[in-house]
Amino acid sequence: MNILKGRIIKGIAGFYYVKTGNGVIECRARGKFRIDNIKPIVGDIVDIATLNNIDGYIIKIYPRKNELARPLVSNVDQAVIVFSIINPKINKLLLDKMIVVALLNDIEPIICINKIDLCRREDYEEILNIYSRIGYRAFPISYVTKAGIKELKDELSGKTSFFSGPSGVGKSSIINSLQSEFSVQTGELSERISRGKHTTRCVELIPLNNGGFVLDTPGFTSLNVDVDIENLKYYFAEFEQFQKNCRFSTCIHENEPCCSVKKAVEEGLINKDRYLNYLILLKELRKNQKRRN
Ligand code: GDP
Ligand code: ZN
Repeated sequence: MNILKGRIIKGIAGFYYVKTGNGVIECRARGKFRIDNIKPIVGDIVDIATLNNIDGYIIKIYPRKNELARPLVSNVDQAVIVFSIINPKINKLLLDKMIVVALLNDIEPIICINKIDLCRREDYEEILNIYSRIGYRAFPISYVTKAGIKELKDELSGKTSFFSGPSGVGKSSIINSLQSEFSVQTGELSERISRGKHTTRCVELIPLNNGGFVLDTPGFTSLNVDVDIENLKYYFAEFEQFQKNCRFSTCIHENEPCCSVKKAVEEGLINKDRYLNYLILLKELRKNQKRRN
């Protein structure tokens, strides 16, 4: 009996496909998980027991770093947040919201502007600079010309990432090209897996040849900004160096006097659009809170 550590990359009807150093192994979960009320999910890091390196049993699930609900997946490191400048037009509020939701889930955001073949250099650089100045990784790419795709792939190395963004920005095109060009061939077993595809379509992690994993479907399909109003400010990283100088430590940089964040916005040290989006999110949180009470 071999005990191997691996990663669940796919689950279909009670079978889990676990990528290990000895290939992908088809596993069932031992009954004890049902007793503990823990169901293995895609993304889980597990120990399995196998006799033949073909099939086996999951005997342990390691604690999860995080867990997304839609799609159901665990242990995600990075969200590649994709927008385009035009076709469709960029929605900066949604972009800032996605960054907050990523940070709330302990996921690093990577900002990508796709379709740079369709717009002027100064237009995408202006946006990307806002985010790289704050300290986020931000890339221009074009699925059509392949500009920036290699740089993006390097960012996925050794990490588990998923793509998110509004529909039409090119997420599926990019995911498909990563899968066809850079994924690890899992051999005969992947044929067996794909034959099961007539059953319910489920989420899958694509193992890349640089040690990274990419989710085959976009994440954050529903955005829930689940944070207390007074804590939202901590998810706008550029406020940090200013807010310690606000008169009130409880300042949320809205209507309080002697607010250093507002002063920094007036002086152009904090991007005004980001600050206005922060105020919109505050209002949304307040509205949701009222609805709940
Ligand atoms: P998704 O909804 O985000 O998954 O977007 P899709 O991958 O379905 O792409 C939407 C459309 O945009 C398709 O017609 C793609 O061919 C096109 N598209 C994707 N990437 C680019 C790009 O870099 N440049 C241009 N011009 N079109 C692109
Ligand atoms: Zn303040």
